[in-house]
Amino acid sequence: MGKTFQACEVLFKYIESKAEKEVLFMKIDLNEKAKKQIGIETIAEIIKEIQGLTGNQRNNVCDECHRKECNTEYSIYLYDTGICDSCEKMGDLVNVSIANYVKDKGINEILYWESGLPRIFRQGKD
Ligand SMILES: [Zn+2]
Repeated sequence: MGKTFQACEVLFKYIESKAEKEVLFMKIDLNEKAKKQIGIETIAEIIKEIQGLTGNQRNNVCDECHRKECNTEYSIYLYDTGICDSCEKMGDLVNVSIANYVKDKGINEILYWESGLPRIFRQGKD
């Protein structure tokens, strides 16, 4: 119980320091099981990483556009619905920066999907 509270404090401190990004934070409804398994510190790192994406790193692309640029395959669990930044079609999109980060961190893709953490980059609110 005390430990959970401490973890929340870490997250809240982080939110305070990034007040301008609060809207994005509030939209994340973290799955409790995934939160425990991934760990709140890692979650804070992931959020920080996603918020720090700039320029092309923010691009979310559909499978078709992704394959034109690169042949790395990502788990379908790292895709989310949105409008492709390349062809502007609605569909399942991957953000290569986020997908690579999740892979590098060694987080199970299904667990990541369950967690409720962003799979694609979204500007503030939509
Ligand atoms: Zn596309």
